[in-house]
Amino acid sequence: MTSRIGSFPVLVALALLAPGISAQPPARAVTIVGADVADGTGAALRRANVRVAGGRIASVGNAAPENGDTVVDGAGLVVAPGFIDIHNHSAEGLAGETAATSQIAQGITTLVVGPDGGSPWPDRRVPGRGRRNPATANVATFVGHATIRRQVMGDDFKRVARPDEVAKMAALVEQGMREGAFGLSSGLEYEVGGYGETSELVELSKVAARHGGIYMSHIRDEADKSFEALREAVAIGERARIPVQISHIKLGTVGVWHKAAEAIALIESAQKRGVDVTADEYPYNAWSSTITVLVPDKRYDYPPSVERALADVGGAGNVLIVRHAAHPEYEFKTLEAIARDRKTTAVEQFIQIVKDGGAGVVCTSMVDDDMKAFYERPWVMVASDGGIGVRHPRGAGTFPRVLGKYVREERWLALPEAIRKMTSVPADRLKLAGRGRIAAGAVADLVLFNPKTVIDRSTFSDPGILATGIEKVWVGGELVWDGVKALDARPGQVLSSTSRDGQR
Ligand SMILES: [Zn+2]
Repeated sequence: MTSRIGSFPVLVALALLAPGISAQPPARAVTIVGADVADGTGAALRRANVRVAGGRIASVGNAAPENGDTVVDGAGLVVAPGFIDIHNHSAEGLAGETAATSQIAQGITTLVVGPDGGSPWPDRRVPGRGRRNPATANVATFVGHATIRRQVMGDDFKRVARPDEVAKMAALVEQGMREGAFGLSSGLEYEVGGYGETSELVELSKVAARHGGIYMSHIRDEADKSFEALREAVAIGERARIPVQISHIKLGTVGVWHKAAEAIALIESAQKRGVDVTADEYPYNAWSSTITVLVPDKRYDYPPSVERALADVGGAGNVLIVRHAAHPEYEFKTLEAIARDRKTTAVEQFIQIVKDGGAGVVCTSMVDDDMKAFYERPWVMVASDGGIGVRHPRGAGTFPRVLGKYVREERWLALPEAIRKMTSVPADRLKLAGRGRIAAGAVADLVLFNPKTVIDRSTFSDPGILATGIEKVWVGGELVWDGVKALDARPGQVLSSTSRDGQR
């Protein structure tokens, strides 16, 4: 970045991803023959040929391939619009890996970055900088509330912002929206964003709303105070007259388990009042982090705090130690089992592990019936909350896991509906006309997969293993994934909210 004066660095950084005038010859036309088309609308599968030319879908029907077309045999496979991941943390990772292999190997063709209040920072390495073709996948961004709050308040952010500071933040939101951001994101459970009052978020959301943006939030609490936090998000939508997206909706502690119906009722009653609220969800009932995050008051050696923390996640049996340098023999045992083996209590064992340098844990803290109830709602999308290099299996596994585990094996969702949640629903949320559907004239972001084999393979111990069953992925009509590896093409676009189908 040579100059930051007078420009919004986040979007300047992303703008550098944008391809210049491409000197490459246009990709050959492609006809995918005989696949079952899941067109993104939720309509039943239908057998058809899909022809792609000039980066767009030329026809869907029974037309035979034309002379010179590359013909792809789709027999036994499903062709769907490329998946749009509305909550993705790849902004950093793209700098090191423009192929975004773990993302396109899942069928993701558009990465929506800048969630949870944090948008890409200007000083980091810029993906694809100076290259003609920057990344395999398209990138869209949000303006991060915490990012701009930090920019305006500096290190003095642990307080309520003054009106002049809110005005400065609003000016940054304004600029970001003008430069093509899709809305404002917040992470109110985190350090910087958490000091933002509701009224601050309302003021900033009003600016995003004026430019057609949405307010996307990791809400203030996903545990015992989930309902208060949901009500705050709805109130922000109501007061700022802005569509609201609840990020990675979940009920993460025992106190709120099995209450999905109540959360759904809260949201759907807001919808009936005219507040436009939607959500996304990742398909995992566990999180991974360090053992200390279990204790919100940070009193890791105070038995009552530890006891409370373990009770909140349903007991020490839900805490799996995955990394502990001092005692590798504990790895892949639950805290409960380790304590039993060592004839101590789980609380004492927890305190000892922290004393011995801490540990990596996987904590099962959501219940399947809540996850299922959310996914069954038509307004809940599939999103990963993952991204390149994310140390959770959702980083490489989200979309194939929904298709393999929750469509094919568990039958929570019908295939066309699951595809709809991955394509047209997020496209419509972002007002990306011309994406998220298979129809003549749409941008040819496509994924061809095997519905009988598609599945995630990433695990908590090995979160980078690529999914399987995604046979081919095209971005803007160019093949970027051939079922085994990422190809050399970098057709990804930086999408902009200020143009019709996001093309600059
Ligand atoms: Zn989040």
